[in-house]
Amino acid sequence: MDRLIIIGGGIIGLATALQASRKRLAREIIVLEKDVRTGGHQSSHNSGVLHCGLYYKPGSLKARLAVEGIREMVSFCREHSISHEICGKIVLAVDEPEVSRLSDLMARGVANGLRGLQWLEGREIQEIEPHAVGRAALRVPEEGIVDYAAVMRKMGELLRDAGHEVRTGAPALKIKASGNRQIVSTPQEDIAADFVINCAGLHCDRVARSAGLHPESSIIPFRGDYWKLAPAGEPLVKHLIYPVPDPTLPFLGVHFTRMIGGGIEAGPNAVLAFKREGYCRTDFSLQDTWETLTFPGLYRFLKKYPGTTWSELRNSFSKQVFLKNLQRLIPDIRMEHLSREGGSGVRAQAIHRDGSLLMDFSLEQKPGQLHLLNAPSPGATASLAIGNYLIAKMQATSANAC
Ligand SMILES: Cc1cc2nc3c(=O)[nH]c(=O)nc-3n(C[C@H](O)[C@H](O)[C@H](O)COP(=O)(O)OP(=O)(O)OC[C@H]3O[C@@H](n4cnc5c(N)ncnc54)[C@H](O)[C@@H]3O)c2cc1C
Repeated sequence: MDRLIIIGGGIIGLATALQASRKRLAREIIVLEKDVRTGGHQSSHNSGVLHCGLYYKPGSLKARLAVEGIREMVSFCREHSISHEICGKIVLAVDEPEVSRLSDLMARGVANGLRGLQWLEGREIQEIEPHAVGRAALRVPEEGIVDYAAVMRKMGELLRDAGHEVRTGAPALKIKASGNRQIVSTPQEDIAADFVINCAGLHCDRVARSAGLHPESSIIPFRGDYWKLAPAGEPLVKHLIYPVPDPTLPFLGVHFTRMIGGGIEAGPNAVLAFKREGYCRTDFSLQDTWETLTFPGLYRFLKKYPGTTWSELRNSFSKQVFLKNLQRLIPDIRMEHLSREGGSGVRAQAIHRDGSLLMDFSLEQKPGQLHLLNAPSPGATASLAIGNYLIAKMQATSANAC
């Protein structure tokens, strides 16, 4: 094809463009990014973890693309000397109901093809994480940490070297079909392309609507706050320590993460946010809040999860409650170990009109267009595999149109 446009210069947009470039699918590939720099949202406001597919329902896209994705991401990092470390993680069960859920999780991991999972009890846990206390733990040796900002820099560089363009300050305002071409309007110009892929993260539903789609889901932003551990608290954590997640939610729970650039972060919680790109607790956008409040799925969601929603919102203002959650994993951690706020991220989580949270990656298509409408965690780990998946869909769609 002549020209492919990817909307969104986050890790998934860049990875998709890179996969299309490697396969020489288009003479010209343009990544349109609305901001002055790429990767400024979810892809650089995350935990920096390489997830290997433990949590996801066997057979789901998340399960498949996380398993493929971590392998591809690690080999990308090796090939381009990008900092990463496969340090492994433990998921810690602190009471009997959690032990039973942990064993379900292990079964999922095995079904998803994870290698080397280890069930730990008693002293075995402390041999790996000396300060973690629990009834049982699952060690996941394939997981690790990575510098996603460096990954994105390299992806951008490879695209430019191949003669393609990553255009910043270029928001896609509207997509319109004209014959068998797609016209993407930006404030600067209208650009014609053979195919458009929407990877706009927190704005993907708006971009889809600008193309005339009526998705059944809408993006509801969930902010996640982190705390940094003070140097005195750092020896309490060796690698990655996660709780057993609530299986009805797509969030993994507040965890400890050793960062690739040094230091330890604790978080993120999951709080309904009043701004899609709002990284402070008090950030507010009238448009975003109005859209959230007028989306019928929100009320059905609030009815399904009343306790979780309100307690998370209340708790986000309390360092004491945050600490209590962390003490479930490491009882020795104290207030003085939480040195300063470690920033936050906002998840683009799609909610269906019926109030259910979309648990899997999801996409919608129409001739000449693909719209990725739900790509939360492990989207960064799986980005190269998601890119492959999207361009395979694009090829199939284009072939059917012929
Ligand atoms: C708190 C948190 C922790 C996470 N932890 C992990 C983790 O440890 N490991 C992991 O694998 N995943 C993690 N994730 C998930 C992961 O970060 C995301 O799945 C991934 O970054 C999504 O990438 P993206 O490119 O779709 O979105 P984004 O990074 O949000 O990029 C979308 C881009 O589209 C641009 N855009 C929007 N609208 C337009 C428009 N109209 N025109 C042009 N450009 C537009 C935006 O400016 C943005 O740059 C986490 C996410 C969060 C929020």
